[in-house]
Amino acid sequence: MSTETTLILFKPDAVTQGLVGTVLARYEKEGFKVRGLKVMALSDEILADHYSHIADKPFFPSVRGFMQESPVVALALEGENVISRVRDLLGPTDSKEAAAGTIRGDFGDKGEDSKMRNICHASDGPEAAEAELKRFFNEGEII
Ligand code: ADP
Repeated sequence: MSTETTLILFKPDAVTQGLVGTVLARYEKEGFKVRGLKVMALSDEILADHYSHIADKPFFPSVRGFMQESPVVALALEGENVISRVRDLLGPTDSKEAAAGTIRGDFGDKGEDSKMRNICHASDGPEAAEAELKRFFNEGEII
């Protein structure tokens, strides 16, 4: 067991449907602690950085457009093994394949955008978490 901090983004589908509080409550119910929280409008530049691993995919322009439909909410969340446990709480990328009881299974898109409109981003490992926390939070904003 180790105490970690992960980066979560509440994507525009969560924000516009008023699901930020509902989903955040699930994280807090697990015992995870909020260490940083802010609303951000994401630029092309930060999205190119954040999604560099999918920048060459044909669906990347759609993902960028989706992530700019509304502001997002960035969350620095701390807890024991929080990085992998949040990924388990979220479920797989495709909301249609996510089990009931997972966040994506319960709230993600079940139509043709099910692979894209999936409520939250969460860091997929310790190295990603470190880089992503630095990308979305300035010094002094994680307390
Ligand atoms: P995850 O967010 O589950 O770690 P990825 O890092 O593979 O997934 O992809 C980043 C984001 O890009 C996904 O969360 C989703 O919003 C979008 N995405 C991934 N694959 C597709 C796809 N095939 N079609 C549309 N959007 C996708």
